[in-house]
Amino acid sequence: MKKHNFNAGPSILPQEVIENSAKAVLDLNGIGLSLLEISHRTADFENVNNEAESLFRELLNVPENYKIIFLGGGASTQFCYIPYNLLEKKAGYINTGVWSKKAIKEAKLFGETVVVASSDDTNFNYIPKGYTIPADLDYLHITTNNTIYGTEFHTDIDSPVNLVADMSSDILSRPIDVSKYALIYGGAQKNMGPAGATFIIVREDILGKVSRQLPSMVDYRNHIANDSMFNTPPVFPIFVIRETLKWLKSIGGVPEIYRRNVAKAELLYNEIDRNPLFVGTAAKEDRSLMNICFLLQPEFESLSGAFMEFAKERGMVGLKGHRSAGGFRASCYNALPIESVEALVACMQEFEKANVK
Ligand SMILES: *Cc1c(COP(=O)(O)O)cnc(C)c1O
Repeated sequence: MKKHNFNAGPSILPQEVIENSAKAVLDLNGIGLSLLEISHRTADFENVNNEAESLFRELLNVPENYKIIFLGGGASTQFCYIPYNLLEKKAGYINTGVWSKKAIKEAKLFGETVVVASSDDTNFNYIPKGYTIPADLDYLHITTNNTIYGTEFHTDIDSPVNLVADMSSDILSRPIDVSKYALIYGGAQKNMGPAGATFIIVREDILGKVSRQLPSMVDYRNHIANDSMFNTPPVFPIFVIRETLKWLKSIGGVPEIYRRNVAKAELLYNEIDRNPLFVGTAAKEDRSLMNICFLLQPEFESLSGAFMEFAKERGMVGLKGHRSAGGFRASCYNALPIESVEALVACMQEFEKANVK
């Protein structure tokens, strides 16, 4: 049976990316060696690394004065790297859920940390608005897409201070104006590649301003000066990222994937809103294009297990909501074809016919 992969992360990748990566594991470029058993300092890998960087730059229109690096450690490690490198006196955070809270917790170890706005009053089902960003912050941190709750900043906000963004789950899903951010980071495993690599896009002039001593591995400048090769980089994930970026470019880049993502999300949100069994959880204006969260209406709540089973029998994978949000979550990342969303919508309609008299 065909599987429809709605996993939240690690998550779906284009089939051709998986095939090319599998080939490189067996034999990279016909050199008679696996990608997994060569030095990262060979021309074969350096080309991969350079191309991953340049394609990422091209696809997101990253300006010249920004550097791009790929590190290990996941987005979670960046929760401490960021205050380590940038927090001198005071940092501001917008709290939009679990990932923001984890970032806030780490920042507090380094200096004064203020929560500028929060949506914790309603279990993070909206993006805060109407707050004032203090002008004396070293930086303001936001989580642009809240993977667990299905809310998303749909615009690049204006900030009077350096804007730092965790874009783990919406990177490359919509056009962004990189120049509005000082630093963008995230784990690759939601929209860009497999687990194991973290991307960082940073405007170089914000670095080197803190008075504390930085361990060498934590100092972004060391990784920048060595093109992500200050130590052994995550070789295989970077290869898969390169393949994913090639695929994205080949289909028309970020504008085209954004068009597709909007079409997929509209299809599913329309069904959630129409179907008497279901209800969306996020405020409509803040609904994520990537992670679509919904519940059964209260009077149908007892059908939860039955719906999961019904969907599973039709090839749906990964629909269970996160434990802190409950219900269902359909993650519709870049590589998810619209056919999978159509299959889910058909499944919801069939379930409605079977259960609503
Ligand atoms: C998944 C996720 C993370 C955590 O990423 P790791 O690579 O597992 O550390 C952080 N932030 C957001 C928004 C996420 O979706």
